[in-house]
Amino acid sequence: MPAQVVTRIAPSPTGYMHIGTARTGLFNWIFARKMGGKFLLRIEDTDRTRSTPDATDAIFRGMRWLGLEWDDEPVSQFERAARHAEVAHQMLAQGAAYKCFASQDEIAAFRETAKAEGRSTLYLSPWRDADPATHPDAPYVIRLKAPREGVTVIEDVVQGDVTFKNSTLDDMILLRSDGTPTYMLAVVVDDHDMGVTHVIRGDDHLNNAARQSHIYTAMGWPLPVYAHLPLILGPDGKKLSKRHGATGVEEYQKMGYPAPAMRNYLARLGWSHGDDEFFTDAQAREWFTLEGINKAAARFDFKKLDNLSGQHIAAMDDMSLMGEIEAYLTAIDASELSETQKDGLLRAMYCLKASARTLPQLLEKAAFVLGERPFLPDEKAARNLDSVSRGMLNELTPHLQSVSWNREALEATLGEFAESKNSKFGQLAGPLRAALSGRAATPSVFDMMLVIGRAETLARLQDAAA
Ligand code: GLU
Repeated sequence: MPAQVVTRIAPSPTGYMHIGTARTGLFNWIFARKMGGKFLLRIEDTDRTRSTPDATDAIFRGMRWLGLEWDDEPVSQFERAARHAEVAHQMLAQGAAYKCFASQDEIAAFRETAKAEGRSTLYLSPWRDADPATHPDAPYVIRLKAPREGVTVIEDVVQGDVTFKNSTLDDMILLRSDGTPTYMLAVVVDDHDMGVTHVIRGDDHLNNAARQSHIYTAMGWPLPVYAHLPLILGPDGKKLSKRHGATGVEEYQKMGYPAPAMRNYLARLGWSHGDDEFFTDAQAREWFTLEGINKAAARFDFKKLDNLSGQHIAAMDDMSLMGEIEAYLTAIDASELSETQKDGLLRAMYCLKASARTLPQLLEKAAFVLGERPFLPDEKAARNLDSVSRGMLNELTPHLQSVSWNREALEATLGEFAESKNSKFGQLAGPLRAALSGRAATPSVFDMMLVIGRAETLARLQDAAA
């Protein structure tokens, strides 16, 4: 094992950050942090039409929200083009690559003939072994002189040894005729120059690994450790797509999943530690191993995410939860909380966080501290405020004027009052919820009364009774 582990995430800007990229980033981040190594970010921005500042920014935003802080400055692949070309020329000089002058037409014709004759259509360039003295003064590409015989074996920590017949790997282009590097070359040169020791990425790149390994070999560079992660599927076992629901990280932020819950869920998606479903970042770091990554594709389970989200909200300390709520409100372009609202939220947090699965659910239940008098009942709550209920609230008010303001006393007072009305407390609860918050779904009436205090409780009851 090298002295220091270096991992990276190398997203291509697509306009948003896919959940699969986020999971790959997360695994790289956890592993680097666990090993006391570095986690680097490289933007694969060679496709100039897609690599807009906005698209790059979407990646930064997604990474930051998920808390995947990277080390050093992000690397732009595009800006390293000269270095990529330099390596291609070095390989040329060493005889590990060659100039190919074949035109598009010639290549197409080669393929036609091969197809007609039932041979492999993999292009075999006649320039591979040509004497440089015969080279024309014409545009050329630089191709890798890939081994034609034998096999290439990629030792993958997740997939095991994967064997590729060299006869199925072509002499891929390293440098195009306009002097720009291909993706395959750029990835290897960047990973090498950045000192990447572990390449952890989606298994859609497994084939690339075989071809990329030839560049490492040609340059005499040590191969990184490979770990290719299985795909993320939708609940129906098909490749995760918009059809199944959100695929972009920011959409999850806007749905109100707190970042620690998202990290936990994504970590579980394709990796496991016994039966543990809920864990903290520290536990993930402690438990994570590349060997623990599942070989089979993972299925996205929205219910499980909801479940974990609820557990994280309940477990989070109030200040961190407040930070998540503020980030959420910013993400959905909602107005900021006032100091009074924050104050109310913090006082109510203990009774809000136990039952909310998402931040909007928590905020919905927080209406009684976020709103102001008069609390106009919404449609559901209004059904609990008919004239009989209003009369009951009116009668209740004097009983609350002198009672000690603690849970036991309030429970006893409300219980006795309900009994005196020959009704159950349950029948009193609906009107009280409606009066105290204008909503039907709220924390318990006792919690609400304790949080807002006597004067405010009495005022709200009177508002509703009037
Ligand atoms: N840019 C590639 C992608 O977004 C990742 C390349 C790599 O990880 O080697 O799929």
